[in-house]
Amino acid sequence: ARKPIIVGNWKMNKNNAETKAFFEKVDAVAASENATYGIGCPFTDLRTAVDNAKNLIVAAENCHWIDSGAYTGEVSVPMLEEIGLKYCIIGHSERRQMFGDTDETVNKKAKRLIEAGITPILCIGETEAQYDAGETEKVIRDQLTGSIADLCPKCVGNMVIAYEPIWAIGTGKSATKDDAQKCCAIVRDQVRVMYGDEAAENVRVQYGGSVKPGNIVEYMACPDIDGALIGGASLKEDSFIEIIEKTK
Ligand code: 13P
Repeated sequence: ARKPIIVGNWKMNKNNAETKAFFEKVDAVAASENATYGIGCPFTDLRTAVDNAKNLIVAAENCHWIDSGAYTGEVSVPMLEEIGLKYCIIGHSERRQMFGDTDETVNKKAKRLIEAGITPILCIGETEAQYDAGETEKVIRDQLTGSIADLCPKCVGNMVIAYEPIWAIGTGKSATKDDAQKCCAIVRDQVRVMYGDEAAENVRVQYGGSVKPGNIVEYMACPDIDGALIGGASLKEDSFIEIIEKTK
């Protein structure tokens, strides 16, 4: 059985004082045998987050695949390892759309993270135009074909893959639970096609896009949805606590 994993993605929000206040309020609530809860936060907040986390897992929101060198503004996997991180979000649609991430660079990031024992939370998902054109399944399969290429089956089984339709991110227009279930099942099937049954049964697939306390339970009830990646509703202590309490 897969252990559910629900992760907040703060994006470019919160300073150190706000991070400390959030963890002081939320971390104790996140103690659970049944599910994993965590927060992805800006690089500058990571150390504060790790220092204040007993139960929550902490994730970076990006990394570079090369260990060191002349890459102004980038942060390497060994640097994340040093802080004690166990998770890193890669390939978020905002990074793909605004900062040039591609399936190829996301794949390099996944490989380097796996080598370091850090679990990638790999994001994929179609645009509104692709959804309207009926291309969702093809986009999901194509993105995965590139993003999880050349990994070991066991490595893929240990990963987290977040299906986030871009039209549902920050819009309040969440996918229906049937659409979300269908797409997360396609994610799992593509893992099966590429890496076999065991990887497909073990990989945890999250839905992301306007998840909130009012809809988390119906997503979590879907057989192929093992968690959520949550933007806006992870910023407020009270709403993230509500999400935890409804799912633990
Ligand atoms: P929202 O929950 O704000 O729609 O953001 C989703 C997301 O992008 C999480 O990575």
